[in-house]
Amino acid sequence: MASAEARRREYLRALDIDVYTLRGAADEAEIVEPVVDAGGLDWAPLRDTVAGCTACTLHETRTQTVFGVGSPDADWMIIGEAPGQEEDRRGEPFVGRAGKLLDEMLKAVGLARETVFIANILKCRPPNNRDPSQDEAAACRHFLERQIELVSPRIILAVGRIAAQHLLGTDAPVGRLRGRSHALPGGQRPVVVTYHPAYLLRSPTQKRKAWQDLVLARQVFNEGLS
Ligand code: URA
Repeated sequence: MASAEARRREYLRALDIDVYTLRGAADEAEIVEPVVDAGGLDWAPLRDTVAGCTACTLHETRTQTVFGVGSPDADWMIIGEAPGQEEDRRGEPFVGRAGKLLDEMLKAVGLARETVFIANILKCRPPNNRDPSQDEAAACRHFLERQIELVSPRIILAVGRIAAQHLLGTDAPVGRLRGRSHALPGGQRPVVVTYHPAYLLRSPTQKRKAWQDLVLARQVFNEGLS
């Protein structure tokens, strides 16, 4: 490992930021600045810090950061992968075709978009919508962790492989992660995994399974209330 990379990993570890070694990631991006710690920041400074972040090279190609949207004290948090072209343009997660399907999926279990909090593993769009690299996810992770702390949702719905694998620290495929409730590492918060709406647009026959996942998530949520 190059010494700059070794120093960066040491720095991330000192901040309690996990350094991943998952398989199948896109090429690693160079981290051009030290990662800023989001620990303890309230919403406004957190939003500002995200907006000014230059921790990885994605800041060079983004139109703007995509912080997240929704109720700051939502019971449900929906976590996707990264902004796409439309999200990068509008500064809001899940506003393209996949976003419309996500809204429909939420509606099907009685949830309006405004009542949940929606965020992504990455706050910046990877060029050509490629998978996030491990370095990019590690550089961005503390922002999402702070958002989870601030919202303190009763349940997290991870949509798609990238979100599920990064949140749960695994390289298992969605097919093996769905169908049961997981605990967010380091806590008891339940995480239910389902397919990404962009995948469902390409493979509509899988929508039945996504419906089962949503019913499961609703059940897990209701059990948490009792
Ligand atoms: N896909 C995602 O994972 N997130 C978005 O915000 C949009 C598309």
